Amino acid sequence: MIPVTKPFLPPVEEFNAYVEDIWKRKWLTNMGPLASHLETKLKDYLNVRNLLFVTNGTIALQMAIKALNLSGEVITTPFSFVATTSSIVWEGCTPKFVDIDDNTLNIDSKKIEASITAKTSAILATHVYGNPCDVEEIERIARKYNLKVIFDGAHSFGVTVNGRSIFDYGDITTCSLHATKLYHSIEGGLLVAKSPDVLKKLSSMRNFGISGSESFTELGINGKNSEFHAAMGLANLPYVDQIYKQRKLLTECYNESLGPVNVFRPKWHAQSASNYAYYPLVFENEDVLLGVKAKLDKHEVFSRRYFYPSLASVLPYLKESPELPIADSISSRVLCLPLYFDLTVEEVKLISALIIKAINNI
Ligand SMILES: *Cc1c(COP(=O)(O)O)cnc(C)c1O
Repeated sequence: MIPVTKPFLPPVEEFNAYVEDIWKRKWLTNMGPLASHLETKLKDYLNVRNLLFVTNGTIALQMAIKALNLSGEVITTPFSFVATTSSIVWEGCTPKFVDIDDNTLNIDSKKIEASITAKTSAILATHVYGNPCDVEEIERIARKYNLKVIFDGAHSFGVTVNGRSIFDYGDITTCSLHATKLYHSIEGGLLVAKSPDVLKKLSSMRNFGISGSESFTELGINGKNSEFHAAMGLANLPYVDQIYKQRKLLTECYNESLGPVNVFRPKWHAQSASNYAYYPLVFENEDVLLGVKAKLDKHEVFSRRYFYPSLASVLPYLKESPELPIADSISSRVLCLPLYFDLTVEEVKLISALIIKAINNI
């Protein structure tokens, strides 16, 4: 059996060394020393100034929307994980979907301006599969119309654009450190803010809005993460460069083994290098995808229709389900293949051979 993903785990002794320290201190959560240490290490590794370690990537999105005081309409992408849209609705705003670009699969920045109304307060875009959005153009539009920008960077840990961290763009960028992501802390999330004042607000919001033993500065939530999650984040961090390297090798092996197959691969941002977070293929049509998926399933190779269906068409709590032809088309044809640290070159070759066989039989 080959799963679509498998979490990376560090040598258990390295995790245990952190856990033994937790046992000695009996400080289990609430901005403990490991959580603070992880924040310092991540700021250094990612080269960003204002960063917080929080419960998960979804809470990070909700806190970002709240901290920027968004209301009314938020322009967003239909081609993302459900948390991108649900966070907007959860915070009392209305998602306004803009179709995606058929080369990058990110929100089409050329279509954003036509969707801006007097009620628009922000743009919330996802760097899909880690591939940077058209960040400079999105920031230009936001400045012109006085909008806030949040990037859902759940997939884009470690990605740079023009040598700068992708997390440096937008008013706030969020990241997920969930076990299925490239770099993880079991459950976890990050908030990176451009302004130190916004970070200060987020930091207070993360801890119920408490400012002193008997005072509160604002509405808050429990967005803290624990020492055990921080321990996993710290134990995994030294391996991140090895993780990219192995994923790069496997990606290149897929590219080579799948060689002549008639598929489309999303085009990566020209000033950025991939972090190899996913291996998506876009097939000619949905029948080909279903044929390939059935063949893989039969051999216990699990792939994932990620993202399918388009969020604009499937969520029961949306008032409008606009037609977004490119997102609908891509989501019906895209399949993510297994990609994780423990996957072997032999397994990649086997998966590729199954795909070629399936396509030839259609
Ligand atoms: C995983 C993911 C999230 C949610 O992160 P959690 O840490 O699981 O809450 C949000 N957006 C995208 C694009 C994701 O892939």
